[in-house]
Amino acid sequence: MPIRILPADLAAKIAAGEVVERPASVVKELVENSIDAEAQEIRVEIAQGGRQLIRVSDDGCGIPAEQVEVAFARHATSKIASAEELYRVRTLGFRGEALASIAAVSRLTLTTRSADEPVGTVVRYEGGSLAHREAVARNQGTDIRVENLFYNTPARLKFLRADATESGHVARLMSSYALAFPGMRFELQSNNRLVSRTTGTGQILDVVLALYGLDVAEQMLEIRQGDYERDGVSVWGLIGAPGLHRSNRRDMIFFVNRRWIQDQSLSFAVSQAYHTLLPQGRHPLVVLNVALPPEDVDVNIHPTKQEVRFRQQNAVFAAVQRAVRSTLMAQHSVATAPMPGRSAASWMRQQEARHLAPGVAQTAIEFQTSPREHAPSLVPAPEKALARPTERLPMLRVVGQIAQTYIIAEGPGGLYLIDQHAAHERIRYEALQTQKASSQVTVQELLEPQTVELEPQQATLLEEHLEQLAAWGFDIALFGRNTFLVKAVPVGLAPETLPVALSEMLDAASEGGPGFSWADQALMTLSCHTAVRAGQTLSQQEMRELVQQLERSSLPHTCPHGRPTMLHLSQAQLERQFLRS
Ligand code: ADP
Ligand code: MG
Repeated sequence: MPIRILPADLAAKIAAGEVVERPASVVKELVENSIDAEAQEIRVEIAQGGRQLIRVSDDGCGIPAEQVEVAFARHATSKIASAEELYRVRTLGFRGEALASIAAVSRLTLTTRSADEPVGTVVRYEGGSLAHREAVARNQGTDIRVENLFYNTPARLKFLRADATESGHVARLMSSYALAFPGMRFELQSNNRLVSRTTGTGQILDVVLALYGLDVAEQMLEIRQGDYERDGVSVWGLIGAPGLHRSNRRDMIFFVNRRWIQDQSLSFAVSQAYHTLLPQGRHPLVVLNVALPPEDVDVNIHPTKQEVRFRQQNAVFAAVQRAVRSTLMAQHSVATAPMPGRSAASWMRQQEARHLAPGVAQTAIEFQTSPREHAPSLVPAPEKALARPTERLPMLRVVGQIAQTYIIAEGPGGLYLIDQHAAHERIRYEALQTQKASSQVTVQELLEPQTVELEPQQATLLEEHLEQLAAWGFDIALFGRNTFLVKAVPVGLAPETLPVALSEMLDAASEGGPGFSWADQALMTLSCHTAVRAGQTLSQQEMRELVQQLERSSLPHTCPHGRPTMLHLSQAQLERQFLRS
């Protein structure tokens, strides 16, 4: 075939394919335009998952009559004018492709009126060509109806999923934008039914409340760290307490300079920050905004603008991880005793109050930015530090043991039921970590050196890891083919469990997986094997020591695998149960 220039309408369809993949991509582009137009309210309506109708209306600035048609030309934009500006984009749009692309693959009607014009304009496009135009009366703002999406690109149409799947994508997108712009009101209707609505109070927590409900909202922690003008990056938003987790990563939502993006490395940074706090295979719920100077992030790497590139990827990764981890740690920080100068009673009342009324009131977050200001300011104005009580483990008094598995203890906050194995596992895990860090392991010499024989594959692994194991207190030497001589082990490891413990640690080495280094996996296995078991009778003294050590742990509420270490019944809960109050 000779080389030919493609006909314009075919070229337009090809270009549209990059931007418009499914109904949710149309909603994304139109909602972004409404946000850029500084709307206060954005309403989206879809029918049949968006294949029949997608309608987005806003009360933004509108388009002046004489510019309506040029808005539909490819690469026509009011948002940037030079290459210079491309590297400092502060709007969500900048490619000037969306209206042209959407119009090319649908029947589109746009009605708009700009602030300083007496009448509005309505235009209708069919497969990219102007079919109708007239003047109309309407309020300031823009309303776009996209009908019969992909009617002229049957191949694309075939790729659409079930209506419910497509409307699910739209709903998720709307939720994300509502979270990124808490000062704007968002409403979504599907097949004439209200799906979600936010109130635009400017508080991100109100959006969480509207979209996820009270249960979730109560378990969100405020995160706010760094100042991007000073540190080059700031991180703020809400993150779920470790008790809140999901089976997929869908509720890990990220915005970079208020742009909703998909970024594997940020998800990974967050997962690592939650490491050992969540059960394995579960994912946290987070809504994180990352702000950095616009010139430090390239937003022009993908037509859908869903991916970005950071100039300093590692710095951003580290900032996110640090912010999340320190928020989680602060939440779990240890109480030593009642604060000096305050009576124990007032401290107890405060503890009580926390258990009675957790959540909303205490985590309410004020966002100072009004939507009209979102372009110039990327981070909400600094606010007074939020005094949120931390999840402390107070001094506890051991009462006794039940089922040779649980320790009952009493504290100023009520009754605690502690899983002795899970709790000890946490203690051992942290102890081993500190010992290793300070190269001061407590070693237990075996009375009689013990030989361990391993399968060939495991034997190879063990040989590779001998040095690391030595750092935890193992004295192991190769003794023959696949056989090793063990002279010393970390304190607490019973010689008879040695072969099992070793082989489990080595299994961890062959499994691997994202977010888990071998050393850490092995450490978890080791802490499990050196911890007291369920079913083991403990003396008062042993229980007291265990509880004291738990009080000193930096993350006392979960074992390294993310299981809870204790149940807590507050005084108030007890009173309610016994109908005393
Ligand atoms: P981009 O958003 O990249 O500029 P689009 O094709 O999405 O490109 O939109 C083209 C232009 O049309 C925008 O630059 C803007 O000036 C105008 N426009 C689109 N949607 C709206 C809207 N909802 N309100 C006001 N102006 C709009
Ligand atoms: Mg746009």
